[in-house]
Amino acid sequence: MRAKSIGIVGGGIGGIATAVALHQAGFNAVVYEKAERLREVGVGMMLWPNATRVLRELGLLEKVLACSGPNTHFLVRSSSGKVLMNIALGQFDVPAVCARRADLLAVLLTALPREHICLGHDLQYLKQSRNKVRLHFSGGLVSEHDAVVGADGIRSRVRSELFGDSDPIYRGYTVWRGAARYDGNALPPNSNSETWGIGKRFGILNTGHKRFTWYATSNVPSNHLDAPCGRKRELHDMFAGWHEPIADLIDASQEDEILKNGARDFAPLRRWGDGLVTLLGDAAHPCTPNLGQGGCMALEDALVLAKCFDREASLHDALRSYESLRFHRTRGIQHRSLLMGRIGQWQNPLLVTGRRVVTRLLSPKLIERNLRRVYAYQT
Ligand SMILES: Cc1cc2nc3c(=O)[nH]c(=O)nc-3n(C[C@H](O)[C@H](O)[C@H](O)COP(=O)(O)OP(=O)(O)OC[C@H]3O[C@@H](n4cnc5c(N)ncnc54)[C@H](O)[C@@H]3O)c2cc1C
Repeated sequence: MRAKSIGIVGGGIGGIATAVALHQAGFNAVVYEKAERLREVGVGMMLWPNATRVLRELGLLEKVLACSGPNTHFLVRSSSGKVLMNIALGQFDVPAVCARRADLLAVLLTALPREHICLGHDLQYLKQSRNKVRLHFSGGLVSEHDAVVGADGIRSRVRSELFGDSDPIYRGYTVWRGAARYDGNALPPNSNSETWGIGKRFGILNTGHKRFTWYATSNVPSNHLDAPCGRKRELHDMFAGWHEPIADLIDASQEDEILKNGARDFAPLRRWGDGLVTLLGDAAHPCTPNLGQGGCMALEDALVLAKCFDREASLHDALRSYESLRFHRTRGIQHRSLLMGRIGQWQNPLLVTGRRVVTRLLSPKLIERNLRRVYAYQT
């Protein structure tokens, strides 16, 4: 098994983490990325204990901790800034942190020799024989591997090669994200927060070193166009009158670095693989961003897959074993995330009032216990 060559399509967090885990397990893993450069952006993402546990096992946790912000509490606030709920994340063997995506990717890349990454290779189609998979790229390159992992994101080419084309489902709201340096007290120490309004939310994450990432959601059609006045002005208007420092954080962000994504996912796919090919990360189980778990799931996938390759007698068995180990876990996260998004985006005044009352009455301990199951996962 060790001498086997594994082709990974996609050089996002999932693909690179998979290459690192396989490389460490002694496999010859090669990543093919269509972009000319590996380009995660500067905005932050939550890395919950289930993900930092993976990073610890890859020997990379200390490096990630050095460039991220600690997180022990999550606040739910009203638009006036009143704290409706303060959820302690609980004690785990590893911390939760908020890291800039570019920093996480840079740390992962320290564990992978450059010759394992081929940039500027856009997969067009693949062909399988009994014990090989051929990848055909634009520009004519063909590469042959013993197994292939499709880590090519929500609009995965590998997935459409296996199961046909399908469009992700737009869930009725869009998410804007930005990064800002801010010298004031945007958040209590070690906390992140999400503020709930009517059909809108605003989240603030501390990525450490006085840097913050914010995200804003709003119920708009999938074809929503940017306002002629630009994204910053539009967001200012959308969140006018909301608590400090929302306006300051929007102001402190670069207009051309504000990201905008529709909240999209798929109903869980029952099959992720066929023969010597499997899917991983958003290609296998895209989920709406409400639990901040999509990237964490991709990290878990990477380690579980490497362990299956290590343990099983054949590549075929390893791929099917990985898929069955990961299906229920990722399906649960997809469902919960979708539900959280639905509740968070309510705009019916009665439902919004009910949500506010329930949030204030609900015991944070109950939520904490519920989340413990997500964070305690061991690969
Ligand atoms: C608003 C928002 C907030 C989020 N917040 C969080 C968070 O706080 N925490 C968290 O864990 N997750 C979060 N996520 C989810 C997370 O971003 C994704 O789950 C994660 O990036 C998935 O990684 P991936 O490697 O599977 O896919 P991607 O990051 O999409 O990477 C796929 C790669 O494949 C490449 N590719 C595509 N097609 C081809 C092809 N044909 N040939 C070669 N290469 C190809 C692409 O260029 C890309 O580099 C958030 C998502 C959104 C939208």
